[in-house]
Amino acid sequence: MSSPRLVIRLDRLGHNARSLVERLAARGISITAVTKATLGSAPIASVLVAAGVAGLGESRIETIEALRQSNGSVPLTLIRSPLPSQVERVVAAANCSLNSEPAVLALLSAAAVDQGCRHGVLLMVELGDLREGIMPRQLDGITAELLQLPGLDLLGLGTNLGCQNGIGPSDASMGQLCELARGLELAFGIALPMVSGGNSANLPWLLEGGRVDRINNLRLGEAILLGREPLGRRPIQGLFTNAFQLVGEVIEAGPKPTLAWGCAGEGAFGPVAGRRDRGERWRVLLALGLQDVDATGLSLPAGMELLGASSDHLVLDTGGEMVAVGAEISFGLNYSALLRAMTSPFVAKTMLAGPVLSRSGAQLKGFS
Ligand SMILES: *Cc1c(COP(=O)(O)O)cnc(C)c1O
Repeated sequence: MSSPRLVIRLDRLGHNARSLVERLAARGISITAVTKATLGSAPIASVLVAAGVAGLGESRIETIEALRQSNGSVPLTLIRSPLPSQVERVVAAANCSLNSEPAVLALLSAAAVDQGCRHGVLLMVELGDLREGIMPRQLDGITAELLQLPGLDLLGLGTNLGCQNGIGPSDASMGQLCELARGLELAFGIALPMVSGGNSANLPWLLEGGRVDRINNLRLGEAILLGREPLGRRPIQGLFTNAFQLVGEVIEAGPKPTLAWGCAGEGAFGPVAGRRDRGERWRVLLALGLQDVDATGLSLPAGMELLGASSDHLVLDTGGEMVAVGAEISFGLNYSALLRAMTSPFVAKTMLAGPVLSRSGAQLKGFS
């Protein structure tokens, strides 16, 4: 088996998705599963669809097109505003997109008319996190323009919180979104079938009894993939936080001093923090580095400590354990580490339907 490799437990991802589908269905909420951290992986998408999610959300047209090829008729939502230069591809491959720019809406409509199809639109509303979204005061005007466009269907409203400034949802902001939807329905005599309240950052609000009102969809990535909510990175009860594990191989091992010596300057990636002398300690060098993963987002096996990371090496203190050359060590990942590992061409992706054993058949160090 090659290393480094990202081991992906499809059974755990299926469990997480099913559990959330059931819990949210009880509150009248459907899930758009966001697979962007997996680069739109077709096998993962299939598992999530089988678990009952209503559709898939992706941020890039390339992954939307690939999912259209691999997963047939599943509803696909482009969750980043379409690029003006890509509207033809968006209309051809995605059922729906999240939008906040009138100029883009006009281009999407023209492309849909050209292709003899219709394209669904969720208008994104800015509710305080200050990434994408229409300011509430502009919503009426943009809706009026949209309703004149022959190629588009207005499916509803959405908002995105938590990603840019860490502003989470509340009864107040979710209530405002629902109020805006009701206002548009009254003003224009239309029905808005979807109110998409946000992403995994909405789960603490929802699961702690938030007022759902008209919210009937969430777009969930991190909660399904990593079993955590992004605002405090707390585990969500009943979900696996270890569906992904990164395995690296030891290429140097043995005791070395803990205090570097010689003429001191910066390391390869900036200043070196907290030099201290703890005598000679057993340490290992792994063939795993910043080209493969965001090292600050790794969780290490109990007792081990990360001493440093550069492009192609991690240095670990093993906590006294005499881990040998050729041994494999397994790590948990946060969202940033997962995204980097999925994106790295050097990391093999190993999909498994069940538990993992090392080359010798033994439980891998750090593997749960
Ligand atoms: C990434 C993203 C999501 C999913 O976010 P998670 O925190 O991973 O659940 C939802 N909506 C939009 C617009 C996004 O960009």
